Amino acid sequence: MVASWWRRWRAERTLARRPIPDELWRLTLARFPFLGQRSAADLARLRELSTLFLADKEFAGMQGLVIDDGMAVAIAAQGCLPVLQLGLGQYDAFKGIVVHPDIVVARREVTDEDGVVHGYDEELAGEAMEGGPVMLSWRDVADAGNSAAWGYNVVIHEFAHVLDMRDGVPDGVPLLPDRAARERWLAVLEPQWQDFCARVDDGEDTLIDPYGAEAIDEFFAVASEVFFVDAASLRAEHPALYELLAGYYRQDPAAQ
Ligand SMILES: [Zn+2]
Repeated sequence: MVASWWRRWRAERTLARRPIPDELWRLTLARFPFLGQRSAADLARLRELSTLFLADKEFAGMQGLVIDDGMAVAIAAQGCLPVLQLGLGQYDAFKGIVVHPDIVVARREVTDEDGVVHGYDEELAGEAMEGGPVMLSWRDVADAGNSAAWGYNVVIHEFAHVLDMRDGVPDGVPLLPDRAARERWLAVLEPQWQDFCARVDDGEDTLIDPYGAEAIDEFFAVASEVFFVDAASLRAEHPALYELLAGYYRQDPAAQ
């Protein structure tokens, strides 16, 4: 009781004292048209959530990158879109957002069946780890207005992973009320994923990023990207998947 009162009081104070300036908000919506197309009510809510997100999270620029207000608002607004109806509490498990100027090359190792370790480089536009921080490539974040045309959005991708990990495991299933809900979720998501993998294996051009064939948690993340930046196409091509995501996110972006 006391905690929720305190939280609300602090939120109201932040909204009153440190609102995102009108001009910066207008520029952000113009820069990312998939945000600007939302209803006035959604946008008012998104602006509030983004303001509270900025007050709560800590941004760190890497390799000399200086995070200015425009960059922070660009990340906050895209990051808050998935939790527009779920609330910012969904992101309580992490504080830090680490921003690199561009893609990061990470050295990875895999051990094969014979126990031989192989090293390889993986290029990352973003990464979400349990407990944080969330890592993002600024070049990819900044280009999100253009890359929406091919359903790509690194911020939504990584924040979908954050939601997926709320139950402790990155398995394509976000935190759901009970076991039955989890089974209903998998009854839709798994066949959708398997069908998608078969199409990717056949070399088909897919609306959803073929990277989703890597694992079911990646499929949830890449499908979420399309859900938020090209909703009408997702609803037309994958109605069952669209319904599943609309139910979870409590949003129907294709209807706007
Ligand atoms: Zn991913």
